[in-house]
Amino acid sequence: MKAPPFAYAKPRSLAEALELLQHPGAKVLAGGQSLIPSLNMRLSSPELLVDITGLKGLANIEARDGGVRIGALCTHTSVERSPEVREHLPLLAEAVAHIAHPAIRNRGTLGGSLALADPNAELPACALALDAVLIVAGRKGERRVPASAFFKALFETDLKPDEILVGAEFPKAAKSVFLELARRQGDYAIVGLAATSRGAEKRVAFFGVAATPILLKAKSLEEALKALPTPNADLYNTSATKRHLAGVLLERAWNKLS
Ligand SMILES: Cc1cc2nc3c(=O)[nH]c(=O)nc-3n(C[C@H](O)[C@H](O)[C@H](O)COP(=O)(O)OP(=O)(O)OC[C@H]3O[C@@H](n4cnc5c(N)ncnc54)[C@H](O)[C@@H]3O)c2cc1C
Repeated sequence: MKAPPFAYAKPRSLAEALELLQHPGAKVLAGGQSLIPSLNMRLSSPELLVDITGLKGLANIEARDGGVRIGALCTHTSVERSPEVREHLPLLAEAVAHIAHPAIRNRGTLGGSLALADPNAELPACALALDAVLIVAGRKGERRVPASAFFKALFETDLKPDEILVGAEFPKAAKSVFLELARRQGDYAIVGLAATSRGAEKRVAFFGVAATPILLKAKSLEEALKALPTPNADLYNTSATKRHLAGVLLERAWNKLS
């Protein structure tokens, strides 16, 4: 199938992009790795695509204030290869290696993945586990949204249709673990988790289990196992199988963090 007809604009500034998004039926286009397939399958029919890949300053990675700020247009590959990410946020570098294959990682962006909020995706769970703050730009200025308030429902976030996610700040964690079970390397997860520890508390964000990533905070493994989510079944796995797998991953992660 071919995409339905749409208009296309490539703004040169954030202000121009935000103005274009006032157009009813306008949608942001970043790496296009999810949006273009969804157009081709006619799952989406925006009237205007606002291509933000020409905007300056949204593809920087900077270590600052005990963490790292990553621009929304950073590709998965640039995140994976960044020395700042590898040093301060090894969780993200490990997670990105599980996303699809190199051609997709070369074009897909951090902002696109967070804005899409696929429940089986790696980066939204990392944002929750790391307690990231997402930076959202609108015509009236910027607002900061904690990851815990950003992922609202299936493919639904706190972003309004005329807003642009411009970046995210990820605080450093003392220790972190990323674990994923997929049928093949690069497939979307059957179930996975991103976990961090700061002091006595551990934050474990599961993905592939519900409509959004699910965050569990606990001080002991017993407490964590009691709070284990009951996953949704998928086409291939029952809820019971996925719960068992989530429990196995949780125990492995706990042992690595302890
Ligand atoms: C075969 C295949 C396998 C894949 N496997 C995985 C996988 O295993 N794990 C995984 O996580 N992903 C996977 N992906 C998706 C990939 O990671 C995408 O790159 C990512 O989900 C979306 O990023 P993008 O930059 O391509 O966004 P786009 O496709 O351009 O946009 C996606 C959505 O986000 C919105 N959007 C994008 N950027 C912004 C922004 N800055 N502000 C506001 N809204 C924005 C768009 O309007 C659109 O609704 C896969 C994709 C394909 C085609």
